[in-house]
Amino acid sequence: MRRLMPHSLQSKFFTGLFLLMTGLVAFFAVGLNIHLNRLMEGEAREKASLILAQVEAVQRYVRNTLRPVMYKTLPSDQFVLEAMSASYVTRAVMSDPNLEHDSFVYRRVTEGARNPDSEANALEREFIDRFRADPELKHLEEFRETDGERYFITVYAQRYDASCMHCHGDRSEAPHELIERYGGERGFGNQVGGLAGIDMVRLKVERDLGGIRDATLSFALLFAMGILVQFLIIQGFFHRLVVHSLNRVTGVMHRLFPDEAPLQTEPFLSQQDEIEGLLHGFELFAEHLRQARVDLKEYAATLEDKVAERTVDLTRLADDRRADVALFVSLLNSLNQSQTKQELLLAGLELIARRFGASRASYVCVLAATDYASWPDPGVPPELPEDWHDLVTGIEPRMGDLSWHIPVQTSGTSRGLLSLYWDKPRERSDRLVDLARAIGQQMGIAMENMEALDGLLTQNALLSSLIEGTADPLMLLDAGDAVLLANSPAVRLAETLDEPGLASLLDIIQDATRDTGCGEFELPDGRIFLAHLYPLEETGGRRIVASLREVTMERRIEDQMVRNERMVAVGQLAAGLAHEINNPLGVILCYAELLAASQKNGQAQADLAVIIRHTEMAQRVVRDLLDFSRPRPVSLEPGDLTAMASATVDLLQPRAKSCGAELHLEAATDIPPLRASDDALEHILTNLIMNALDAVNGLEEKEGRTGEVRVIIAAGDRFADITVADNGTGILPEHLNRVFDPFFSTKEAGKGTGLGLSVIYSLIRDLGGDIEVENRPGGGALFRVFLPLAVKENEETE
Ligand code: ADP
Repeated sequence: MRRLMPHSLQSKFFTGLFLLMTGLVAFFAVGLNIHLNRLMEGEAREKASLILAQVEAVQRYVRNTLRPVMYKTLPSDQFVLEAMSASYVTRAVMSDPNLEHDSFVYRRVTEGARNPDSEANALEREFIDRFRADPELKHLEEFRETDGERYFITVYAQRYDASCMHCHGDRSEAPHELIERYGGERGFGNQVGGLAGIDMVRLKVERDLGGIRDATLSFALLFAMGILVQFLIIQGFFHRLVVHSLNRVTGVMHRLFPDEAPLQTEPFLSQQDEIEGLLHGFELFAEHLRQARVDLKEYAATLEDKVAERTVDLTRLADDRRADVALFVSLLNSLNQSQTKQELLLAGLELIARRFGASRASYVCVLAATDYASWPDPGVPPELPEDWHDLVTGIEPRMGDLSWHIPVQTSGTSRGLLSLYWDKPRERSDRLVDLARAIGQQMGIAMENMEALDGLLTQNALLSSLIEGTADPLMLLDAGDAVLLANSPAVRLAETLDEPGLASLLDIIQDATRDTGCGEFELPDGRIFLAHLYPLEETGGRRIVASLREVTMERRIEDQMVRNERMVAVGQLAAGLAHEINNPLGVILCYAELLAASQKNGQAQADLAVIIRHTEMAQRVVRDLLDFSRPRPVSLEPGDLTAMASATVDLLQPRAKSCGAELHLEAATDIPPLRASDDALEHILTNLIMNALDAVNGLEEKEGRTGEVRVIIAAGDRFADITVADNGTGILPEHLNRVFDPFFSTKEAGKGTGLGLSVIYSLIRDLGGDIEVENRPGGGALFRVFLPLAVKENEETE
């Protein structure tokens, strides 16, 4: 059936909730009612049993206590009804007006009662009949409605026992008071155990039932109100949490999938709630998805076919492109490998012809048709069209069926014409035209590069020969201190270092030029170099040229000149001084000797001897000074070095012993004569050996090792080599340059004049020789004297 009103999810939910709540209220109200009724019944039952217990107690008291006492007290035929009849007493007690408010009725009745008040009514007779019918039945209780009122009735059967027989048995034995009061007809002739009557309590329950109804109603009302409040709260939450959220979901579907989302305007949808609408939307959505999937599958199948077709085309195109790229790469490679333009052209022509399957290829220079290159036969001249000059200067290639003519150009300059020839007609396309144009440009670039490279190589070769031709070491460095280039002198120099290699040479150069960009350094072998660093401005200072020049000779000559100048100056001073001192000394000595000859006094003689000794010592110093300053006549007569060395060493052995040192001579036997007199040789050797012995003097005591002086004599081609080495104190590095200076001495006053080495230095130089000094690695000093050999000199003059 078509519904007229739309039922939203909310209204459905609340209708259901309302029905549920109503059912709950009814259920609880009925339950409460039944429970209260049960309570009321229980109460009535308890109250009735309480009343009956009271009745029972009264009767038991009459029967067991009061009646026996009365029998004892009264004559045997006397009977006091008010005190001895259980029924009478009970009825009298229970009809007390004080009990009326308990709203119950107590009745002790029977059928055919002696006392007319105890005669049972219709209701009571009904109970009596039921007890009589069932002798075992003792107790009955039930709710009854009588006269429009509801009662709870509980009934107990009363049966006769032996004590009842006195009044209710044989009439002849019954008390006469009874017969007088009630007559002799009724209430006699009963048996023990026979039904005497009933005790009945009837309670009115109408008032309690009214209370139960009120309570149930109030409960139902309160419960309904509570449910109503709860209902409203749930409605609020439901709307906020469920309906609102569902509406949002529907809204999202409307927005995202307008075709599939539930439409409120659709007539059949207007009868549905939000969830049904949503489900409907999802169904449409799922259907749409399924349809889309089917469509997609169809598209995919079609697409696969199309892709396969296109892939074949693309693969062919890609192969062509790859071949083109390979052609360009090969052209570049041939540029790298070719040494000349001709080589490049031949290699390029072959590559291009093979790429396009041409049978021939040629290149002709723009300047002359005779300047050409051909492949495969270099001797075959190209077949050129009449207007080939116009073609070369234009930019468009001419692509015929059997030949292509492609202008070769770079940066707008025409260089020549590249021609390809086929035996069979060849296809032509726009792509091929572009490709041909690109090949023309590429060839032009390659040829331009080749020319540039040619120029560069020529320049490079020129530069290399210039650098190599330079006698001085030269290096090219980069800013990161790497050696980029080094000429042969630089490489040779680097090989002679303690740590061979250009890197060590660079370190030494950098140390020397650190502050100013130029400086000198001396190698351990004594060579001195002047180093300069020039940053190349064209490279922005990233390339630096390091140039070296050996200045050993210059520095030696400078040193000698300085030393000579110093010697000359000191010599002149010394000569003047000696002259001034020598004469007074001669006078002092002369007079001292005269005085000594005339003096007899021993003390005076001794004093004069001191004066004479010191004057002579002073004269010796002055003589040394004069020797030093005076130009000595150098005798160049040949001297025997071995003999002089042997004699000098022998002579100085005692001195060596007194110093606690050993003095050795190692002399080669075949030393030719020297161009120096024996006197000069003795002077030189004595001086050097004496200095060495001074240096090892007392070494035993001071350092616990034996002093040792070695004199080694050897000869080379032109010079004899005299070495005097000791293991003594050595010379301080800062003194090495000063030991040959006049008056330089480290010995204590009176022991050294500082003239010994300076004198022999002058002597050796005069003889055409040289002297060097250095400290020995193990300690001690080493002097080397080079003196020219007499023989060689003669040979040379010859
Ligand atoms: P003198 O011997 O009078 O001092 P020299 O000219 O002979 O003068 O020597 C100069 C100085 O050279 C000496 O004082 C000494 O310091 C140093 N010298 C020379 N030979 C040696 C040596 N073998 N060992 C150490 N020092 C030396």
